[in-house]
Amino acid sequence: MAKIIEPLRGVHDVLPSQIAAWQHLERVTRDVFAAYGYEEFRVPIIEQTQLFKRSIGDFTDIVEKEMFSFVDQGEDHITLRPEATAGIVRAVISNGLLRENRLRVWCMGPMFRRERPQAGRYRQFHQIDAEAFGFLGPDIDAEMISLSARLLRGLGLTRLKLLLNSLGTPASRAAYRDELTAYFTAHEAALDEDSRRRLRGNPLRILDSKNPDMQRLVAGAPLLLDSLDAESKAHFETLCAHLESAGIEYHVEPHLVRGLDYYTRTVFEWTTDALGAQSTVCAGGRYDGLVEQLGGAGTPGIGWAMGQERIVMLLEKQRLGVNRDHPAVYLVLAGERTEISGLKLAEQLRDAWPHLKLQVNLGGGSIKTQFKRADKSGAQFALVLGDDEATRGVVALKDLRRDALQEECALDRINERLGALLGLTAGAVE
Ligand code: ATP
Ligand code: MG
Repeated sequence: MAKIIEPLRGVHDVLPSQIAAWQHLERVTRDVFAAYGYEEFRVPIIEQTQLFKRSIGDFTDIVEKEMFSFVDQGEDHITLRPEATAGIVRAVISNGLLRENRLRVWCMGPMFRRERPQAGRYRQFHQIDAEAFGFLGPDIDAEMISLSARLLRGLGLTRLKLLLNSLGTPASRAAYRDELTAYFTAHEAALDEDSRRRLRGNPLRILDSKNPDMQRLVAGAPLLLDSLDAESKAHFETLCAHLESAGIEYHVEPHLVRGLDYYTRTVFEWTTDALGAQSTVCAGGRYDGLVEQLGGAGTPGIGWAMGQERIVMLLEKQRLGVNRDHPAVYLVLAGERTEISGLKLAEQLRDAWPHLKLQVNLGGGSIKTQFKRADKSGAQFALVLGDDEATRGVVALKDLRRDALQEECALDRINERLGALLGLTAGAVE
C-alpha cells in the first residue's frame, strides 16, 4: 500500500461535521460589519517579506521566529501573511484608497505563523480583521471596540473580559522606554534569553513575555500610563467615557503592550478564562504611524484581529451555533428505470424552490438501504419514486421523523405540496 501523507504540523482540516460553528461565525461577522458600514476587503496571502519586517518590527515574536518565508523561483522574497493589517495597509496605499481620506474595511482568512503548536495555537489559523483609516479621535476607537463587543455578543458568547491600555505617542513611549531599560537593566541577571536580547532592541517587548518568571518581574515595572503625554491621556479618557456610556465594561491593564511594534495610543484585548493558556480571542489597537512608515501619506489607523479557531472553540464549549446542516428531503429511487426521471424531478424541485435542501440517492441500492441512508442524512421527508409510481405519474411522500404522514402526490402537484409542507418561499438564494 502507498504510504499515507500526513498533514503538516500545526495545520488543521475543518471537517464537514465541524463546519456549522465556522459558518455561524462567518454569518454573524458579515451581518455585524454591514450594520456598521464596513466593507469587505480581500488581500493576498503572500506578500513581499519586506512588508512584514518593516511594519511588525524586528524584535517581535513574529519577525524573530514565526514567519513562513521563502525565496521563489523568480528570487522574490515572499512571506505567507502572519497577520492582515500590514497587507491591508499596503493594499490601501497601492490602490490609492486613501485619496478619499477615510475607509472602514474588514477581512477574514488564513494567517501563518511558525509557532509551537498547542491547543488554540496553530501554524495556519484564521482571523477576522477590522481596520479603519483617517480617523484621529477616540470615537473610532469606541466604534471599533463596540463592533467587536457586538460581534461577540451576537455569537452568544459570555465570560469575556475587555482589557484596555494606552501606549501613548512615539515620543512618550521613548521616554518610557528609557525608564524600562533602567528597570530591567537593574534586574538583568533575572532576565531570560529572549528578554535580554529585547532589553537592547526593544524593552517594551519584555512586557509581552509569556514566561511566568518574566511576568513576575514585569509586575513591578514602571507604568506607561504614568508617563503618558497630555493628548494621549485625554484621548484615553474620552475613549473610557464612550465605553461607559455604551455600557461596555473594561479593565485598564497598564502592562498590556501587544505583540506588534506598530501600535500607538489605544490597545485592547478580549480575553476569556475558558480556554486555558491561549486566553486572548481578539486584540487590536491604534497604529497612527504605520501608513506613513509603509510609504503612504500620514494617515491614522486602527484595527483589531479576532482568532477564529479560539472563537470556534468557545462556540463548541458553549454549544452555540453548532447544529449540523442537513437536507430536508431525501429522494429514494426505487425502480429500475427511475434514475433518469428521478434526477429530472430533483432539478425541477430545485428550480421551483431555490432554498430547498434535497439530496438524491445515487448509486442504487435496495429500498431498505436507501431508507437507511435517508434516515442518516437527517432529512425530515423521503420522496419515493419507483417504477410503479413513475408509470402512474405520482411520487410517494413519507415523514421520516413522525409516523404521521405517508401519502401519494401527483408529480405535477409535488412542487406545491413540498413547498407547503416545508414552508418554502420562491425567492432566489442570497
Ligand atoms: P498571542 O499572545 O496569543 O501569541 P498575538 O499577540 O500573537 O497572540 P495577534 O497577532 O494580536 O496575537 O493576533 C490576534 C488574535 O489572533 C489572537 O488574539 C488570537 O486569538 C489569534 N491568534 C494569534 N496567533 C494564533 C495562532 N498561532 N493560532 C491561533 N490563533 C492565533
Ligand atoms: Mg503570538
